[in-house]
Amino acid sequence: MSVDRNEEQDGDDRLRRLMRRLEREKAARQQAETLLERKSRELYLANAELSKLAHMLEERVEERTAELLSERERTATLSLKDHLTELANRHRFTAHLSDVCRRVNQDKGRVTVFLADLDRFKLINDLHGHEGGDFVLRALAGRLLDVGRKGLSARLGGDEFAVIVEDLASEEEEQQFADWLLERLKAPISAHNRRFSVSASIGYASLPDHAVSSAELLRHAEMALECAKKLGRGLCVGFTPDLGAEEEERRLLELELALAVDRDEILPWYQPVFDGVSGRCLGVEVLARWQHPYRGIILPGGFLPIAEQRNLLDGIFQQLARRAFLDMASLIRTGQLRYVSINLSPRQFQSSDIVEIIHRLLKETGFPPTALVVEITEDFIMTNLACASRSLNKLSRLGIKIALDDFGTGYSNIASLSSLPLQWLKLDRSLISRVANDHVGQAIVQAVMQMAQALGIDVVAEGIETREQAQWLVDAGCRKHQGFFYSRPKPLEQLRADLLVPLEKLQNSI
Ligand SMILES: [Mg+2]
Repeated sequence: MSVDRNEEQDGDDRLRRLMRRLEREKAARQQAETLLERKSRELYLANAELSKLAHMLEERVEERTAELLSERERTATLSLKDHLTELANRHRFTAHLSDVCRRVNQDKGRVTVFLADLDRFKLINDLHGHEGGDFVLRALAGRLLDVGRKGLSARLGGDEFAVIVEDLASEEEEQQFADWLLERLKAPISAHNRRFSVSASIGYASLPDHAVSSAELLRHAEMALECAKKLGRGLCVGFTPDLGAEEEERRLLELELALAVDRDEILPWYQPVFDGVSGRCLGVEVLARWQHPYRGIILPGGFLPIAEQRNLLDGIFQQLARRAFLDMASLIRTGQLRYVSINLSPRQFQSSDIVEIIHRLLKETGFPPTALVVEITEDFIMTNLACASRSLNKLSRLGIKIALDDFGTGYSNIASLSSLPLQWLKLDRSLISRVANDHVGQAIVQAVMQMAQALGIDVVAEGIETREQAQWLVDAGCRKHQGFFYSRPKPLEQLRADLLVPLEKLQNSI
């Protein structure tokens, strides 16, 4: 009996233990389920947050992409437009011309390029400032924006414009269009109580008549434009094969000129300046001559403009000055001459340190600075007064004299003249040609001489061609004389020989 109770007791204990274990397991499972549920909720919330972030990110990426695309579009447009005038720029013009020419060559069509360059645009900038200049450029661009033809208008830079036209059928139509374009550009521009007058030169060429490629077409239009400018501005010139021949000739001369500098073919010739009373040779002006191997002697007008364009001026000047200083040093030392004058071009003041170059050449050659006169032109001084003034003062401090050349051809004013370290005024040939029998001419020269005297500046008369002119100038008190009446420019050996001959004999031999 007791065994049965014991067994029963054991069974109850096991059952209770089992129950407790079940209770614990149930509690643990409930706890785990609660934890799982909480974690699941947390995960769900985190997931929702992540989705939101991903969505926002997606939106931002889309926005930024749109911004970048529009920025790229804007940059692409800007890179094809001229920022000042809104016309096509050179880049777009070149690309468009190349496309059109390719198409025209395939379709057997015709395209004409018109290049326009404003005449004396610098004057507008000088008179009205850059704002005025920009206003004029914008106004003209507005007139070119729509020329009523199939094509494209562009500003190529500065005051250069271009129009490509695809539907002109003949040379006659081209000429008419060029004339119309010129009239359109020439119409006065009025704004803010101001009136701007503009004139332009136009050159044009067409494909297939004058060229087979866009590069050739452009080059020929440029040649026509150059010709229009040379002929006197305000003109339209169409390309002709003659212009091509001239251009070839010019290109050959350019190549030869570069070689000439290396080969020492640019020589100084000397034109004496005499004392009109004593007949004594006072000094000489150095003038460049190109001793060409088969063309003979070429005067400066035939090669200096090319030298200026091809950046050869500095090389030519240094060669010329070095040689002249070496040639003349002994004549200065022995007192046969008092000075040597040499011409400087406006470009030399802008592009290099001309003062340093001259200083070095004087040192190298032992030529005394006090015997050197530098001739500069009136035009240059008046347009670059501040820059000129600085360089001229430096030259003056070295003991070099400054002469204002071709006086009477520009627009100098007395205030400007008195602010510069000038020792000489060289009266231009155009004034001297009037002194023998023109009362107005005489009065002008007398007035200039009085002004020069008041400023302490010496006057040299150049371009004297007759005895009457020389005599009138002596009577008027101007003694320094230069011109063909006395002597033409000559090479060194002839100058040396002539210095030994009395002036009377020289004049009789002219
Ligand atoms: Mg001169």
